[in-house]
Amino acid sequence: MSNCAIVGINWGDEGKGRMVDLITKDYDMVVRYQGGGNAGHTVVNEYGKFALHLLPSGIFRPGVINILGNGVAVDCESLWTEIEAVRSQGVSITPENLKISDRASLLLPWHRDLDSLEEARLADKKYGSTKQGIAPFYSDKFQKKTVMAGELLYPEQLLERLSSLREWKNLTLQKVYGAEGYTMKQLMSWIQDFGKKIQPFVCDTGAVLRKAQSEGKAILFEAQLGALRDLDYGIYPYTTSSNSIAAYAPVGSGLPTARIDEVIGVVKAYSSCVGEGPFTCELFGEEAEKLRDAGSEYGAKTGRPRRVGPIDLVATRYGVQVQGATNIALTKLDVLSYLDEIPICAHYEIHGQQTDEFPFPTLLGEAKPVMETMPGWKCDISGIHSWEALPEAARKYVEYVEQAIGCHIGYVSVGPERDAIIIR
Ligand code: GDP
Repeated sequence: MSNCAIVGINWGDEGKGRMVDLITKDYDMVVRYQGGGNAGHTVVNEYGKFALHLLPSGIFRPGVINILGNGVAVDCESLWTEIEAVRSQGVSITPENLKISDRASLLLPWHRDLDSLEEARLADKKYGSTKQGIAPFYSDKFQKKTVMAGELLYPEQLLERLSSLREWKNLTLQKVYGAEGYTMKQLMSWIQDFGKKIQPFVCDTGAVLRKAQSEGKAILFEAQLGALRDLDYGIYPYTTSSNSIAAYAPVGSGLPTARIDEVIGVVKAYSSCVGEGPFTCELFGEEAEKLRDAGSEYGAKTGRPRRVGPIDLVATRYGVQVQGATNIALTKLDVLSYLDEIPICAHYEIHGQQTDEFPFPTLLGEAKPVMETMPGWKCDISGIHSWEALPEAARKYVEYVEQAIGCHIGYVSVGPERDAIIIR
């Protein structure tokens, strides 16, 4: 059996979804182990183009079992909307190929409200949340004040529990934020409209995974967001509220004894970042606009223009280290084809000192990029399928990045489609 995690090395949106979609052909199961519907994995395949938020990207492969693990924030409303949308494009989604952990906690309607209320209170100090309720959800999970998906199977106890949570949560909504509280009627109709819809997918996925492990099945763990957004290892507080790194995959998937044989780290050929927080290599003005347009860097969930910059070797090397990446997929190389010269953020300078170490978050805002450039290739590479056929300048760029980040680049993608990939 060989298990693999596909993870982001940077700030997210590196192209993890397309890599999972490609690699799933060799796996029996795909498991999402953290995060919620707050990001989008874009997948382009024979069914069309999809922005997946909660569904694992293996959902398109017949025979692959997709699991939402206990570490995921299960938002019944978003998940059901997504299931219906993906089904409408001809993809079969049944309790056979989608299973939700009974131990995954449910993101409740007030989590989204609280996210928006808190961002509004913070005004110009806001965190740049996608307002999907993720931070309030995980705080409540750690306070043991939400419900598990498995509780949907026990309606009486569920109502009792929701009733006591409602009482507690209304205190915050009304007394702290001056907002409307929730009535039991509202909560019951939410259960009816969404909870009941996802209930057939809920089961003991830990048992499913343990059985798969004992039968030698191959499991793929799918991360959401990148290493720099990891709650413990990222650019806190501009992180997400869960652990996106590969080391968390066994815990958040429901298979705590899983051994991960391969960690594929996904790195974009340049950088992008959604939301607030320090972004050392950021480009501005016309240069940024050209790169943003070339790479279509607009959020899959929010449509927000993403901040962009050249590849950041300091941040990427750190991401490779904390992920324990064993192989890298360098995506979107084709996007750089318009440039005469490829800019690279090679080092940082902090208080006049050049450094290659990724700094402590407080110092990150003080870091300035030390730039280098490499010659561009100035031709369309999107139809190229072999390493040898790439222009020499493109190969040199990939080799330079590989040497600087200290990990083999085994995949280079040159277009969003499944087969627009070079395997080295
Ligand atoms: P994820 O969240 O890490 O899966 O990344 P996103 O889906 O948010 O962003 C990646 C975007 O880049 C998607 O729109 C993909 O279709 C697109 N994409 C992925 N690989 C390539 C590539 O090699 N070239 C181009 N031009 N687009 C790509």
